[in-house]
This record gives sequence, structure tokens and C-alpha cells, in this order.
Amino acid sequence: MNIPQARCYVEVSRSIIAANYRAVRDAVASEGARVIAVVKADAYGHGSIEVSKALVEQGAEWLAVSSVEEGVALRRAGIPSRILVMAGIMPWECGALAEFNLTPVIHSLEELRLLNERCAGIQVHLKIDTGMNRLGALAEASEIIAALHAAPRVQVEGLMSHFASAADFTSEQTDAQIAAFHQMESSLTRLGFAAPIRHFASTNAVAYPRRDAWMSMVRTGHAIYGYVSPARGHAPHAILRVRPALSWRTRIVLVKEVPAGSRIGYGGAFVAPSRMRIAVLSAGYADGIPHRLSNRGKVIAGGRFAPIVGPVSMDLTTIDITASPEMKPGDVVTILGREGDVSLDAQQIARTAGTISYNVLCGISARVKRFYID
Ligand SMILES: *Cc1c(COP(=O)(O)O)cnc(C)c1O
Repeated sequence: MNIPQARCYVEVSRSIIAANYRAVRDAVASEGARVIAVVKADAYGHGSIEVSKALVEQGAEWLAVSSVEEGVALRRAGIPSRILVMAGIMPWECGALAEFNLTPVIHSLEELRLLNERCAGIQVHLKIDTGMNRLGALAEASEIIAALHAAPRVQVEGLMSHFASAADFTSEQTDAQIAAFHQMESSLTRLGFAAPIRHFASTNAVAYPRRDAWMSMVRTGHAIYGYVSPARGHAPHAILRVRPALSWRTRIVLVKEVPAGSRIGYGGAFVAPSRMRIAVLSAGYADGIPHRLSNRGKVIAGGRFAPIVGPVSMDLTTIDITASPEMKPGDVVTILGREGDVSLDAQQIARTAGTISYNVLCGISARVKRFYID
């Protein structure tokens, strides 16, 4: 299938992905840090294989995914970079780690013992919990040292942690997390262990620069796709210049004129205040349009904003195109992206839908065809 036939599709620009990657790489190079490009969750909906290929072309040495399964998919597609598996491994996945040369992040000292038994020779990154209280080992430096000695067949190549609130400058949490990391690092060093690689920062801690957290590498996802979350409080200016790489479009299946007083869609909550021209779009919440955009979101039709009227349904969404009477079945409408001077990005959609841009991007469902442009 090509774009002229697709009912609902995204276009991902390889050159924008590449430019965003270079923007991150150049920003952190000043501090001697390198980039781990995060391509988990199918590259935040952009397509992990195509995105990884574009990143490898830019010289990306490290990629990160969530699961062993995601890492295996990249290896099967011929991706040669180091691949960090960040969201935990299952006891039965040890074989695949070795077979596909994946580097797991481990989150407990128990896991270190398990890998020492089952996966001799493997390199791992140890994540420490510096206060987010999700993944990461909560242990004393002395306990970590004892576990390292008890696991001589595992090489701890990296020491890492993850921020809970890096864009929130009303919170002390980021400073506290950085202090906890440095304290753990110096205790470990004093006890004779220094990890060759240390990493902590994701997009927000790069964009609103926390240079003391850039360390050897930064792990950025959102920025690679062209986004930086809005900051809270007195944040420094964002230093990254990145642009959204993905546009999301659908087609009109039907256009109709409805008289004043017509109720549109399930529930009948939207009542046409006057005669209206309605277009029915070939996309709904099963494609990832947030249901919360019902009666409050908008799309771009004919180069103008067109409000969503009535509920977003599973496969269809109704919009008001009274201002664009030239639109007809088969015409393309932009859910996320740009037409001329008018644009809508995942951040704006998220704000209207009461969610976050990550959720909008990852929510674009598998049935939406992905196309790649230069
Ligand atoms: C997803 C993730 C990242 C990337 O975060 P962004 O905000 O998209 O840059 C980094 N580290 C870990 C552990 C993650 O889970």
C-alpha cells in the first residue's frame, strides 16, 4: 500500500529524526557525554526498525528498548548498535540476552546472582533507585560491593538511575536524586568499584540542562522524536532545538450538510447550533485518537482548524468543515502535523485530551500505516 490508498497513516521524516539526534548529540558533546537513543515502544509509535536504521546511519552507538522482545526485533532487522534493555528481564530471557547480544539493566542484587549463574560473561548496567521508587536497586554501597564479588561472571559496565521530575523546577527532587547518585558513586569508588559508564539524564534533564547529570551518556527518547515537555517553575531556557518528526493523517469518508438542531453521533450530546457541513473521518479511538477529544479537539482540514463535533467513535470521527466547503470524500485531513501555517503537535493534542505527549504518540495504534519520507 502507498500513501494514496491509506485511510489513516503517519509519515515519519527520517531527516528530522536524524537532525534531532544530532541536536542532542551536539548539545551533550560539550560535556563529553554521548547519546543512548531510546527506541522503546516501537520508537514512541514512529516505528523502531526504521527509526533505528536512520539513527545508525547517524553513527548511533547505543539504542535502548524496554524489553528483550523489542531488542530481538532490532537484531533480526540487522541493527548492529549496542542495545540496552531497560524495563526488566524475566528469568527465562537469559538465553536471548546472550544470543542477541543485548545489554540488560538490572534492578536488584538478586538479579545479579541469577545472571551470574545463567548468563556468564554478560555485561549489565546496574540501576540504582535514587528516589523515584520504581525500578532500581535500593541497597547500600557495601551490599552492592558484596553482590559484585559474589557475581564474578557478570561485568557491571554501567551505573545508572532515572529522574522522576526533571522538568519540574518547583521541586527539589531532581537535586536530591543527583546528590544521592553522586554519594552512591563515591561510596562505591571508595570500596573499590567504579563503573566505566554512568548515565542518568533523559530528555528533560538534557533540554533544561542539568549538566552534572549528563555523565558519560544521556538516554533520550522524546527529543529524538522532536519534543521537550513543558517545564514547571523557574526553568532555564530549553537548549534543544528539535522538531516533531511525525505527521498523522486520515481521509474523509463522507461529507454531509445537517440542519440546525441535528444531534451528531453516539449519545447525541452535540447539537448543531445552525446548518453545518460535517465530514466523517476514517479514524477513531481504535487508531489512537483520544476519546477525550470528543467535542473539544480539532484537526486541520483544508489548511484550517476544524473542530471535532460529537464523540470520537471507534473507527470514525466527525468534524465541522463548514469553513472548508471544498473538502470531499478521499481528501486528507491532518490529525497531528502541519498544513501550511497551521499546525498541531502532540503536546497541544495532549493538553486538550488531558494527557501527555508521550501518551498521544504511543497511542497511535498498530493499524495506522507508517510511511517514511526523507
Ligand atoms: C523512556 C526512558 C527514557 C527516555 O525518556 P525521554 O523522556 O523520552 O527522553 C530514559 N530512561 C529510561 C529508564 C526510560 O524508561
